[in-house]
Amino acid sequence: MTELAIRTLEGATKTIPSETLATLRGKLRGGAVLPGEEGYDAARTIWNAMIDRRPGLVVRCLGAADVMLAVQLAHTEGLLVSVRGGGHNIAGNAVCDGGLLIDLSLMKSVQIDPQSRTARVEPGALLADFDKEAQAFGLATSLGINSTTGVAGLTLGGGMGWTTRKFGLTVDNLISAQVVTADGEMVRASATDHPDLFWALRGGGGNFGIVTAFEFKLHALGPQVLSGLIVHPFAEAAKLLPQYRRIATEAPDELTVWAVMRKAPPLPFIPAEWHGKEVLIFAACYSGDMKEGEQAMKPLRALGKPIADVIGPHPFTGWQAAFDPLLTPGARNYWKSHDFADLADGAIKIIVDAAGNLPSPECEVFIAHVGGAMGRVAPDAMAWSNREAHFTMNAHTRWRDPAEDTGCIAWARQLFDAVAPFATGSVYVNFMPDDEKGRVEKAYGKNYRRLAEIKRRYDPDNLFRMNQNIRATER
Ligand SMILES: Cc1cc2nc3c(=O)[nH]c(=O)nc-3n(C[C@H](O)[C@H](O)[C@H](O)COP(=O)(O)OP(=O)(O)OC[C@H]3O[C@@H](n4cnc5c(N)ncnc54)[C@H](O)[C@@H]3O)c2cc1C
Repeated sequence: MTELAIRTLEGATKTIPSETLATLRGKLRGGAVLPGEEGYDAARTIWNAMIDRRPGLVVRCLGAADVMLAVQLAHTEGLLVSVRGGGHNIAGNAVCDGGLLIDLSLMKSVQIDPQSRTARVEPGALLADFDKEAQAFGLATSLGINSTTGVAGLTLGGGMGWTTRKFGLTVDNLISAQVVTADGEMVRASATDHPDLFWALRGGGGNFGIVTAFEFKLHALGPQVLSGLIVHPFAEAAKLLPQYRRIATEAPDELTVWAVMRKAPPLPFIPAEWHGKEVLIFAACYSGDMKEGEQAMKPLRALGKPIADVIGPHPFTGWQAAFDPLLTPGARNYWKSHDFADLADGAIKIIVDAAGNLPSPECEVFIAHVGGAMGRVAPDAMAWSNREAHFTMNAHTRWRDPAEDTGCIAWARQLFDAVAPFATGSVYVNFMPDDEKGRVEKAYGKNYRRLAEIKRRYDPDNLFRMNQNIRATER
């Protein structure tokens, strides 16, 4: 039987005897997969095609017991570990080179309790899995805008989307989590059990353990929501964005409007002559009564002379997937993100200038509209601290040919640097690329010290280091 050469936390290569691997295989419900074996490539292939790493061993978990076995092996042998949920994170930390990949993507169960309005979700579930189950009961919680994103990574980083202004962040709706800690033990984290760990998990990413089940609070919503896109000529962006800022700032919690600048995709409702030309898109969703939504959206729909306006009632699950065709896996991607308390005129000018010079046809600038319920939670209530943000900009650079790497990355960095004087300085960890390690402390602001202290108690040896890493306070 094959001996296993695998990378340690110190970066050395260690040999695991074939008997150890055989014992592990005998105990797992899922599989222990070596390079070249079935399932290996599926587990290591993630959304961002820039990440092409080859783990030494993949444990494809089918339940919490498998996760405990994998963590116990890593803990005992001192192995480099990465943890994969939905595999969507831009930084690519879900996959390590040479080490142990703990793959949760097969654990997809979502159980809804309509009586208590709660959901129990396994860490391989995608947003679409969650929404489909919850919507069967007319329920939802705050999730993101791309339905193939993993619930696990999104939640642990914070989680924002169309209903954040109404229901808060995803972490604001987390009731409890089952967590396998660095010693391979299982604990429950909630407001009453391991409350410090629970505080840290809500925004602190994968730093503190592996979550094998999340429990969420649900809210009544749907089955239809007033939602859709309004498409304008890009030439109008400088004029329309200050008006967008006013509408977004005055909006009720139910109304969320994101602004997107990109080349028009060939969608049937956009006239063919606009396909491939720069446009400004307002993407809007009203998380409430449809008639009230019609009123609330009037000022937005009255702006300028749109090329297309397809606001109307849409199934919530469909709207949650509206951007999926533009965000498919397999492309090369690099992001740069800032939070803004307000969109200053100077910031708008810089963003519009950059969006008028996109380095590749699939690139775009997104301005997410947040605030509302999210902004009314105390900044020290949990790890997520960016409560003052009202807008979050994300420069999504996306291309196919590696020859375009330098140009696309430079464009995103240039926009990021130019607009920095207008930003709050905070950032959503889930939008950070891999080269922003020095920014992690800023991302958490005043909460970083407490996170470092909790890291010392739950993961003093930094077993969980393939993430936006929080360094433990010195012992
Ligand atoms: C196209 C696209 C659209 C997006 N849109 C949004 C959006 O609208 N709103 C939003 O909030 N975010 C959005 N994101 C960001 C998204 O929240 C993050 O990429 C998130 O990390 C994805 O989670 P995942 O499980 O798919 O990722 P993975 O890459 O599998 O995991 C990311 C990291 O999370 C940790 N992790 C994952 N699972 C666990 C677990 N069970 N226990 C412990 N640690 C774990 C690991 O450190 C891992 O490296 C988007 C991302 C993409 C690519």
